[in-house]
Amino acid sequence: MSGDCLFCKIINREVPSEFLYEDDDFVVFRDINPAAPVHLLLVPKKHIRSMNDFKNEDSAIISGLFVLAREMARQQGVDKSGYKLLFNVEKGGGQVIFHIHLHLIGGWEK
Ligand code: AMP
Ligand code: ZN
Repeated sequence: MSGDCLFCKIINREVPSEFLYEDDDFVVFRDINPAAPVHLLLVPKKHIRSMNDFKNEDSAIISGLFVLAREMARQQGVDKSGYKLLFNVEKGGGQVIFHIHLHLIGGWEK
């Protein structure tokens, strides 16, 4: 938990958001400013700043994110039509929320 982190506040329900999925390790919610018909954010509950800050012992989080992405794509009905998975890394990579998250973007065609 990082005190001034928006995504930590969402995870702790200090800021309202509707979770499409939650378990002990992850939450999934819709991006507030969607870039496509389906735009989800897959967020580990552990506060990790960016891809640069993943530790080797966090490898289960990384693999878990991709398993979750596969399941959420199926749940959202974009698995067959296709989708993008994206990590923005640090400011130059477009990251604005410094709590790691995987974007799942799709739904342009059914
Ligand atoms: P990034 O640029 O990778 O850091 O992505 C951060 C994303 O969080 C952006 O696409 C924002 O639209 C999204 N975002 C910011 N605030 C919220 C919020 N309260 N609920 C959902 N998504 C948000
Ligand atoms: Zn955080």
